[in-house]
Amino acid sequence: CGIVGYTGFQDSYDIVINGLRRLEYRGYDSAGIVVEDNQGKLYTAKTKGKVEDLVKISTNLKGISHTGMGHTRWATHGVPSDRNSHPHSSNSKKIVLVHNGIIENYDTIKTMLMGKGFTFESETDTEVLVNLIEYFMNNDTSLDFPTAVRYALNEVYGAYAITVMHQDYPGVLVVGRLGSPLAIGLGEGEYFIASDASPFVEFTKEAVYLEEGHMATISLENGVDIRNIKDNEKITPAIQELKL
Ligand code: GLU
Repeated sequence: CGIVGYTGFQDSYDIVINGLRRLEYRGYDSAGIVVEDNQGKLYTAKTKGKVEDLVKISTNLKGISHTGMGHTRWATHGVPSDRNSHPHSSNSKKIVLVHNGIIENYDTIKTMLMGKGFTFESETDTEVLVNLIEYFMNNDTSLDFPTAVRYALNEVYGAYAITVMHQDYPGVLVVGRLGSPLAIGLGEGEYFIASDASPFVEFTKEAVYLEEGHMATISLENGVDIRNIKDNEKITPAIQELKL
């Protein structure tokens, strides 16, 4: 299981697909990708099977985007299938999310959201998280996207590394971590996200390893803003020099 994300000047499709190939050694049963075109429109492709199976159904996403993310899934909740593969979208399709780990209390959250009219397309624990973010944003329209992600993560028990994108926040990637690794690569005019540094080490030697209970909002416009998920305290990033 693995996560790759990118925003910068290169084709995000190539970076994400090549990154997922580098993470294949971690093991997985499905793969998926979402890229954002320069109108801010999100395009998702996902499938049970190998990264090469994903490539077969997604070559139309090549060359249209500078921001995107991908996922390899190791199923914990719901069988390996196209539908259970990540990324998962919120009901409005505006928010997309990839997740490694387990949301222990997904059942409680799912029941609450269904009571509010949300519907679910998959059997995963992950899909509740993307709709919980949407729920917070619907409920309080003054809430910005990273804050809604933070609120949602504060409701969740379990283990996760996540990356989230929002159609109305082009070029923005929000990441969070508890119990599963996530590294941010700092390039010149580009940022990388990955479960380990191997997908981006050919492009940059500077990385921040996100710490337990931290989240980050990443964009070319505002750089990398790291916060404590609990209290929103701003964290000064500890930049590491990769020796790979
Ligand atoms: N629990 C999630 C699922 O079953 C994520 C699994 C993973 O770590 O890839 O879809």
